Amino acid sequence: MTSGGAAVVGAGPNGLAAAVTLARAGIPVTVFEAAETIGGGTRTQQFVRPGVLNDVCSAIHPMALATGFFRAFDLERRVNFVVPDASYANPLDGVHSGDRAAIAYRDLARTASELGRDGPAYARLYRPLLKHLEGVVDFALGGSMLRWPRDPLAAILTALRTVEQGTPLWNARFSEPAAPALVSGVAAHSIGRMPALASAGVGLVLGALGHARGWPVPVGGSRAITDALAADLLVHGGRIETAHPISDVRELAAYRVKLFDTSARGLVRIAGSALPGRYRRALGRFRYGDGASKVDFVLDGPIPWADQRVAAAPTVHLGGSRAEGAAAELEVARGRHPSTPYVLLVQAAGFDPERAPVREGGAELTPIWSYTHVPQGSNVDVSQAVIAQIERFAPGFRDRILDVRVTTAAEFAGYNRNYVGGDFSAGAVTPRQLFARPVVAREPWRTPAAGIYLCSSSASPGPGVHGLPGWYAARSALTHEYGLPDPDLGLH
Ligand SMILES: Cc1cc2nc3c(=O)[nH]c(=O)nc-3n(C[C@H](O)[C@H](O)[C@H](O)COP(=O)(O)OP(=O)(O)OC[C@H]3O[C@@H](n4cnc5c(N)ncnc54)[C@H](O)[C@@H]3O)c2cc1C
Repeated sequence: MTSGGAAVVGAGPNGLAAAVTLARAGIPVTVFEAAETIGGGTRTQQFVRPGVLNDVCSAIHPMALATGFFRAFDLERRVNFVVPDASYANPLDGVHSGDRAAIAYRDLARTASELGRDGPAYARLYRPLLKHLEGVVDFALGGSMLRWPRDPLAAILTALRTVEQGTPLWNARFSEPAAPALVSGVAAHSIGRMPALASAGVGLVLGALGHARGWPVPVGGSRAITDALAADLLVHGGRIETAHPISDVRELAAYRVKLFDTSARGLVRIAGSALPGRYRRALGRFRYGDGASKVDFVLDGPIPWADQRVAAAPTVHLGGSRAEGAAAELEVARGRHPSTPYVLLVQAAGFDPERAPVREGGAELTPIWSYTHVPQGSNVDVSQAVIAQIERFAPGFRDRILDVRVTTAAEFAGYNRNYVGGDFSAGAVTPRQLFARPVVAREPWRTPAAGIYLCSSSASPGPGVHGLPGWYAARSALTHEYGLPDPDLGLH
């Protein structure tokens, strides 16, 4: 039926999603991974303290239960996910209990009921998106932004709210600090100045998923997702070679199709000789964003939050009010390290039985994951600023720290070549680069060179653990290189 195998360069979630899709269609696939272990941004290791599992990169998976590839792959059945009632929390400096934190529950009405006067306005922001969730997800993550949305009303509702929350109008519907802080805490996931259209759009989609499906925690850590993908690939005849970096496309001459789970820059470095000059120059214009610096902890016990409700949410956004979060992000965009940074924190141990505190000599060893945004290529140790920001909302946190492990943006760039300057999105998330990811095309995964595809988060629909660029690239390759029907629904 088919002739000529495929090579996938890189075993991140997108490379593995591409390989699974091809292998299930009967194509012989080999995955080449530069590192000793597979997983890319979905690895979990004992790198802070022996015996304690910390996620190395991604920790929380808003897209694991609601997006196309993972639904077709039935990830929900293959990985044990815990989906708490609270998706995320945003501690505040309020003095009364009740205004010390805003909590996003899966239940939108409950969320709104704890947001004081702004509760109804908050509910009106999200309710239509929840009603049209399938269409919202399709609009944001359904492939190239050049395609006509399946649910135009969902696209319009998302676009209108994105314009509101992504421009100076963003406070128009709110009168108190809690609700806008909750909205911007999610928007700030996509690194950059706020308000901005790209971060507002990303934040609204992630927020809607938080209220509709929850933000799941994989039992055992993000590695469980990698393991599920790799297991399926091997069952379908695929092969994986670790510690095998590819530096020149000519090393892959034996393969009819090559898919690159690399940054756009990596694609040029490895396969530039095979790409037309115009396309190479377009990839050269692809911009990388600011970086992330991670601070992982092992604590002696849980975080002593001032507002105990925060303990119910696996993900915590620490930036204070909306204005403070925006000021911190502006500092980063100007090339500085904010003294009160926006910090993303995940406290998985309270939810995941496999990462529940391990007892050792009377201590309850509790893993905590956090990172903050920093300028491109930064090698500054941000741990003191991060600790101070957590301590602000959890007095006594500092005293619980047993181990700290910092990974700077520069170290991330060395850890994974896709993270150019520590930009783990493998390309800035900007309005331009939502359309041109990495170039403007109906099938942006397909390069002009025969048999060469880009399947990483440098391609549409961009970063996050959802496997979508890999899935779309593989489907494109199956159609164009092997003349097979689109296996859209053929994964079960
Ligand atoms: C600190 C941090 C926190 C994050 N948090 C979250 C989160 O909570 N939720 C979420 O959804 N996302 C999160 N992300 C983002 C997420 O991890 C990435 O968007 C996702 O992993 C991208 O997948 P990918 O397959 O495109 O690339 P990657 O996961 O980066 O994998 C690429 C793989 O290709 C390999 N490779 C590259 N070049 C070569 C080569 N020449 N030869 C062979 N192998 C090569 C690399 O070693 C790597 O293993 C986070 C990322 C980081 C760094």
